[in-house]
Amino acid sequence: MSEVIKKRYAAIVLAAGSGKRMQSPVQKQYMLIHDKPLIYYTIKAFEESFVDEIILVCGKNEIDYCRNEIVDYYGFKKVTAIVEGGKERYHSVAAGLNAIDKCDYVFIHDGARPFVKQEMLLRAKNAVTEHGACIVGMPVKDTIKVINENGMIDKTPDRNSLFVIQTPQCFERELIDSCYKKLIEQEQELSEQGIKITDDAMVVEYFTNHPIKLVEGDYCNIKVTTPEDLLFIQNYL
Ligand code: C5P
Repeated sequence: MSEVIKKRYAAIVLAAGSGKRMQSPVQKQYMLIHDKPLIYYTIKAFEESFVDEIILVCGKNEIDYCRNEIVDYYGFKKVTAIVEGGKERYHSVAAGLNAIDKCDYVFIHDGARPFVKQEMLLRAKNAVTEHGACIVGMPVKDTIKVINENGMIDKTPDRNSLFVIQTPQCFERELIDSCYKKLIEQEQELSEQGIKITDDAMVVEYFTNHPIKLVEGDYCNIKVTTPEDLLFIQNYL
């Protein structure tokens, strides 16, 4: 009888952003929501999931705080490394990828999205196993306009093909490792061409033709970004 080898899943939880748009002295990922730092809720979701290993990426000065006041204090057992992030989000992802021990699939998630749900993670698990790459997103609710440099309407894309993209974004490990390796090697050229990397799928799109499946996310899976988002999360929790 052939032995079924269990696949291993790693999650990179990103918490190294400065969160300037929150206009708060405390970074958004550490703001207390019902007496617990926001990042607690995000890590908890992965801790309670099928994920085997969690890499927490934070600022250099927050490593001790994260270890003592979050990971140890709340007893998160799956966090295997807490590593320093970088200037841009993609630098933080690259640092997270370097810290993974052993896995087949990587789930990259914004720490500032505390409402990632188990059903969503399972949908992403099924899709990444089948397609090798998937991201979660939701249909846009509003009409989207493209404007020109003078602030005038240029065009109106068909709303049926537009989605708001969230995280997690999930990939086979070799695929995402090789794409990020190329990105770091070529980041100077990309920046000279004015290419701004805003999510992980974009890195795979840029360097490969690998198909990426879109799976259903959740309208509540918001990224806490501006002060009004805090009202939403306080009420939601
Ligand atoms: O800046 P933005 O809101 O897009 O950040 C998305 C997520 O990526 C946040 O959880 C933030 O903490 C993280 N991030 C990071 N390193 C950066 C920038 C953002 O880990 N340099």
